[in-house]
Amino acid sequence: MFKALVMEQNAEGLAEAQLKEIGEDQLPEGDVTVAVEYSTVNYKDGLCLSAKGGGLVRKYPHVPGIDFAGTVETSEDARYKPGDKVVLTGWRVGEIHWGGYAQKARVKGDWLVPLPEGLSTKQAMAVGTAGFTAMLAVMALEDHGLKPGQGPVLVTGAAGGVGSVATAILANLGYEVAGVTGRPDTEDYLKSLGAARIVAREELNETTKRPLEAETWAGCVDAVGGEMLARVLGQLKYGASVGAVGLAGGAALPATVIPFLLRGVNLLGIDSVMQPYDNRVRAWKRIASDLPMDKLEAMIRPARLEDLPQLGADILKGQVQGRVVVDVN
Ligand code: NDP
Repeated sequence: MFKALVMEQNAEGLAEAQLKEIGEDQLPEGDVTVAVEYSTVNYKDGLCLSAKGGGLVRKYPHVPGIDFAGTVETSEDARYKPGDKVVLTGWRVGEIHWGGYAQKARVKGDWLVPLPEGLSTKQAMAVGTAGFTAMLAVMALEDHGLKPGQGPVLVTGAAGGVGSVATAILANLGYEVAGVTGRPDTEDYLKSLGAARIVAREELNETTKRPLEAETWAGCVDAVGGEMLARVLGQLKYGASVGAVGLAGGAALPATVIPFLLRGVNLLGIDSVMQPYDNRVRAWKRIASDLPMDKLEAMIRPARLEDLPQLGADILKGQVQGRVVVDVN
């Protein structure tokens, strides 16, 4: 028997979380069983922990947790053997497949990535899906020509999970990072991660009638979407790119095509869920080499399985700073 946070529907059809002892025979099908050590809380976890499952959870009872890191216990996949350290993000684990909010998880070997050299399971979950996606966005910007010295790189939703990791990676790589936040009290935190300057959310979350503004940003990692992304498109320097990661501020994009036509800017879609294996391995290696571990430690807020319902509600309200690391044991 092992501990799991199980979501079950009540008589009104609303899902509620309960910490339970369950047996291995209740785990879903899969070819690798992992003793989970750490999981984390992403925005999507907040949705999966909510009463209606955020439209992501299809079936109850359900174990959320869109990512985890741990040690292989049993494996029918030739690539993994007992004792191997692994990390999992994406593939809709924690949404339509049981996830990491339990001491054990059973998944497909195809969904796993070997833990990169130099990272512990705890550090991997301090990075989590949010940090992994931040790295994918940085790689996409670089692949489209971003180099240090071209001007400030904007990070929106900077004090959140994606934003914190993007800020620390970009600053460490020598970029001048401008972090957009709606929480002025996070200024010291963001500067400690390497942000050179802070931009107040109000400056960017209003629409303007002008499709083009002053050429300001050499690139952007955007966790917010909505009005803010539309504004950023009109402020990018000629030929610059934005990695569109999230929608914390809204899914609509009230923009014009003018910045694409007159400034040749690029809107790069960043998806972590179905990301091909080789690029996953590349991103995790880059995380191990380019994310300073002392900065990562500064982002960590420790938690336990029983804290998750509250943390899920907090992240949906944009009230979580940095990265929650859930010790499931
Ligand atoms: P967090 O809640 O940790 O961070 C989001 C941040 O966005 C908040 O901390 C806040 O930053 C800012 N924010 C929140 N609400 C608003 C608003 N109304 N207007 C402007 N800014 C706002 O979430 P994550 O970092 O985990 O995820 C960020 C986004 O990225 C989410 O939308 C998530 O779904 C998406 N995502 C996408 C992935 C992909 O594969 N494409 C993978 C992982 C995440 P501050 O307080 O500094 O203003």
